[in-house]
Amino acid sequence: MRTAFTAEQLADPQMAGAAKAVRTCVHCGICTASCPTYVLLGDERDGPRGRIVQMQAMLEPGGVVTPEAVHHIDRCLSCLNCRTACASSVNYQRLVDQARIHIQDHYRRPLMDRVLRWMIAKIMTRPKLVALGLLAAPLGAWLPGRLGAMARIGAKARPSRTAAPAPVVPHPVKRIAVMGGCVQAAMAPQIDEAVARVLARRGIQVVPLEGAGCCGALPHHLGREDEAKDWARRAIQAYEAGNYDGVLISATGCSAQLKDYAHMFLGDAVWEPRARAFAAAALDFLELVTPLKEPTSSALRVAYHPACSMTNGLRLSGQGEALLAASGFTLVPFGESHLCCGSAGSYSILQPELSGQLRDRKLAHLSAADPDLVVSGNIGCIQQLGGGIAVLHLAQLLDWAEGGPTTLPVELPAKPR
Ligand code: SF4
Ligand code: SF4
Repeated sequence: MRTAFTAEQLADPQMAGAAKAVRTCVHCGICTASCPTYVLLGDERDGPRGRIVQMQAMLEPGGVVTPEAVHHIDRCLSCLNCRTACASSVNYQRLVDQARIHIQDHYRRPLMDRVLRWMIAKIMTRPKLVALGLLAAPLGAWLPGRLGAMARIGAKARPSRTAAPAPVVPHPVKRIAVMGGCVQAAMAPQIDEAVARVLARRGIQVVPLEGAGCCGALPHHLGREDEAKDWARRAIQAYEAGNYDGVLISATGCSAQLKDYAHMFLGDAVWEPRARAFAAAALDFLELVTPLKEPTSSALRVAYHPACSMTNGLRLSGQGEALLAASGFTLVPFGESHLCCGSAGSYSILQPELSGQLRDRKLAHLSAADPDLVVSGNIGCIQQLGGGIAVLHLAQLLDWAEGGPTTLPVELPAKPR
């Protein structure tokens, strides 16, 4: 497609990536059916092709950021299903990331929107402050819309609980730094405990990456790129200060962010090479774990919910299912497994209606398939679906199957159905 980006704009490597995505799109519409918001709303402006047109209009010289374009771009989940579906290799991620930064820098949102986004960037990135959300928990049931969604997340925090130290592995084959992250550390420290035990049984010692905090994905998806870069620099410095064989974060949404650090610093002579080295060392749990040595004899029927960040960000499609099958679990297929569950970072707070519709749709498909348990690798999806159905992190299921202290949230079936 023809574009009008100037040479000056194209000198910025981030903008050059966005311009390339616009130029490469041939407007064929193949991606449209894979877009969750298009599936829900049936509006071309809420599909990838329509959004590409709107983003081009705002980014090219003379472009104006209109409330209408912001409305439709805000509704994008950044699930990147469109990127995976595109036959022309349009890198939609580069475009939507740039558009979000542009909106943040050039558009004045209504006051409540600004306050909410500030709270997400400043509070949800810090586990201790997420735990303070407990104070707002009683409001979650009756507060409407987005504030209620945020209060309900605070209600899930566990302020008195931090992850127990990892077991000591006598002669580790690998020593992996683990980032606790933010929301998961506040809500589900038991996940990283299970990760540490499962990896210890495979000879891998995990060590907390002291000094690191949030991966930066939350501010990044809000277009608050300076804050996202600050978190990234902090993680990189923490990693460089130690001697490790890799760095792990046990939520696929965060893993995908770590592996994209080099792109954040493109053109920065100091930080790009450091970010590139860090990204090369970043590992997802799925890349470290191996199947159970002894396949399970349980009759547990498991549905694997593939997080968008795992499928479209990390490009590890099929690996979770393969691991579970090789571990002896009976895999239960379900409809529309490729569509986002509506969690998408802070999307469940900022777009509670669409997020709720996607959640209900996902739960309906899962319930129809009737698994004993749903397994995922991303805290956002686990929180989004939990309450509607029994959900565990993949590491927790393996920990249980290997005799670890993790308990199942369901009764164990007596025999295969
Ligand atoms: S499939 Fe690719 S080329 Fe076709 S409309 Fe979608 S993004 Fe553009
Ligand atoms: S990233 Fe997801 S929600 Fe956004 S346009 Fe692509 S498919 Fe649709």
